[in-house]
Amino acid sequence: MIKVGDKIPLELGGYAEVKAVLGSGGQGTVYRALYRDKEYALKMYFTNKLKRPELFRENLAALADGSMECGYFVMPLLLTENTKDGFGFLMDLIPEGYAPFSDILNARVRFSGLYSIVNAAIRITMAFRELHNSGKSYQDLNDGGFFIRPSDGDIRICDCDNIAPYGEHLGIAGKPGYMAPEIVRGEKAPDKLTDRYSLAVLLFRLLLRGDPLEGGRVLKSVCLTEEAERRHYGFEPMFVYDPEDDSNRPVRGVHNNIIKFWRIMPDYIRDAFTHSFTVGLHQPEKRLIEKQWLDLLIRLRNDICACSCGAQSFRQSFESDDAGKLICPCGTHFAPPLQLTDGRTRVLLSDGTKLFGEDLSVTAEVVRNKLNPSLWGLKNHTAEEWGCTLPNGQDKPVPAGSAAPIFVGTKIVMNGISFEISESAE
Ligand SMILES: [Zn+2]
Repeated sequence: MIKVGDKIPLELGGYAEVKAVLGSGGQGTVYRALYRDKEYALKMYFTNKLKRPELFRENLAALADGSMECGYFVMPLLLTENTKDGFGFLMDLIPEGYAPFSDILNARVRFSGLYSIVNAAIRITMAFRELHNSGKSYQDLNDGGFFIRPSDGDIRICDCDNIAPYGEHLGIAGKPGYMAPEIVRGEKAPDKLTDRYSLAVLLFRLLLRGDPLEGGRVLKSVCLTEEAERRHYGFEPMFVYDPEDDSNRPVRGVHNNIIKFWRIMPDYIRDAFTHSFTVGLHQPEKRLIEKQWLDLLIRLRNDICACSCGAQSFRQSFESDDAGKLICPCGTHFAPPLQLTDGRTRVLLSDGTKLFGEDLSVTAEVVRNKLNPSLWGLKNHTAEEWGCTLPNGQDKPVPAGSAAPIFVGTKIVMNGISFEISESAE
């Protein structure tokens, strides 16, 4: 038994001093530990619970090579020696301010706004893309493995010790709601295609706060026995919004989140989930790839639209009045936002709109002129000067920290790409 104060020797020399227990699970216990004056998390396995401890250890050593670059994965850093209490590894602690995904799902923790939610979805998708590009799969997906910072949607992915190259199955069962049906049925080991199913589940749960396969039909099972779970998630899976079959629709009073959020999702997001949980349930090779999700999620972020009262929703979810103005639930009727477009993509420019770079840092923001709040500008948060041509043809470059005036016909060159401000269609 490991106790506080124990010193666990590390493979490459030195030791980790156990400071406190952080948590215990089926595979082992995680401690807070001190190594060379810095605090880490130390995971020690119950080696008798591992099916093939040597293979497991080999896989850990391969994961600790530092090859994942996105910073979202909390990877093993250093392995311990084999001790009489088994073996384990050191990893970074989850920084302050990150909440387990399960706390977000049960509404114990709330996001700061739609940007944080959609950016969390984008980061999760980027993390999966990097994982798959390196030939590995995640295998053990569940609510407890993800931590999200609600203020900006930054993420940390834990339980990375179960990440393995395709084709290698570490014997981790995973959680039925997240596992692809073919894994639940015991037909396949986890790979890129089964991970893609799990990614769709994760995105659905994040955006709609419910389970894509749990509707009225599942509720009829009085208690969700293992056999019933296998049926609902493996042998007879049915999407709650299957267009061909309404037998598993969400139930008011039980699945209120799904009902509420499904209504505000733009069609292209509903279509992506419908595809994922109809065709994608049965034809793994037809599941959306990460790049498709990224394009859709960036489009979703660009469609965030806010009223001056601060309420945010997606553009398509606002009702319009007879004059074509959008109606906010607060009672305000406001003109549809202008858009910034490069001809291919568009961003709506409403009160407080933010633009993000590929690293998810804010590159621009809609602000109001301090002296004349009816004048709106797009503030340059990058270090580079933007080119800008006003509607009257006058050149007016926008240095870092300044704002380009938002008028129909203003042209802005950012990062070498030319944009123009125009009226937005739907
Ligand atoms: Zn409002």
